[in-house]
Amino acid sequence: MPAGLAALTSFAYYLRVIAAHELDIDPQELRIGIQPIAAPGTNTYTGRIFVADSLENGAGYAPYIGTKDLFNKVLERLLGYGAERFTMEQHASICDTSCPDCLRSYDNRQVHALLDWRLALDISELAAGQSLDTSRWFERINILTSPVLETLKDDGATLDTFGEIQAIVLPTTKKVALLGHPLWTVHPDYYNSAQAAAVFEAIDKISRLGASNPSDLVSMWDLWTLARHPHRTIEWLNK
Ligand SMILES: [Zn+2]
Repeated sequence: MPAGLAALTSFAYYLRVIAAHELDIDPQELRIGIQPIAAPGTNTYTGRIFVADSLENGAGYAPYIGTKDLFNKVLERLLGYGAERFTMEQHASICDTSCPDCLRSYDNRQVHALLDWRLALDISELAAGQSLDTSRWFERINILTSPVLETLKDDGATLDTFGEIQAIVLPTTKKVALLGHPLWTVHPDYYNSAQAAAVFEAIDKISRLGASNPSDLVSMWDLWTLARHPHRTIEWLNK
């Protein structure tokens, strides 16, 4: 999951902002970080977020945030007040990934490139036990694919749909770049049912065009990687 670290980092700083707001303290009173741990049932890693007081012998904010009542309030705010602020037109229309009004601060400047308010909201929903609202990413698919389609327009690149998933198709190389949600894996062993069905359908279509190696011509991408590094998709499609 290429966006995994960015998603956990974005959520961690979002949690810090909201927890600090709930406690009426400066966010910098709290230190947060991510501890790598083995992901249960897989051969890969995930991360565990920790929250600590910034000051040694601090006021005990972190253990207080860890109490059930307060943490539930924080979760509620992550999805209520915080989510409303992020998604309101004045913010969403000018903030593609993160800005000082949402997740950025001076003390997290080393991870500014990872911070993304949409990923923060995605993880907030999952942390609260809700289902993931995938529309935050999928409704922007025309904007996010336009640099690739524009670059490859002379080769006839188009947006097509396989099952429930949209994909960029390049007729000259017969390649299909399926575009999944940033919190969906791109590893074939862990595809969800929508991904598996889309890959099957795309391979079937490519093999009808006479390709001898159709499974090598279909690849799963995610919209976060596409937004950050469109050249990677362009290079793969063109190769
Ligand atoms: Zn912002």
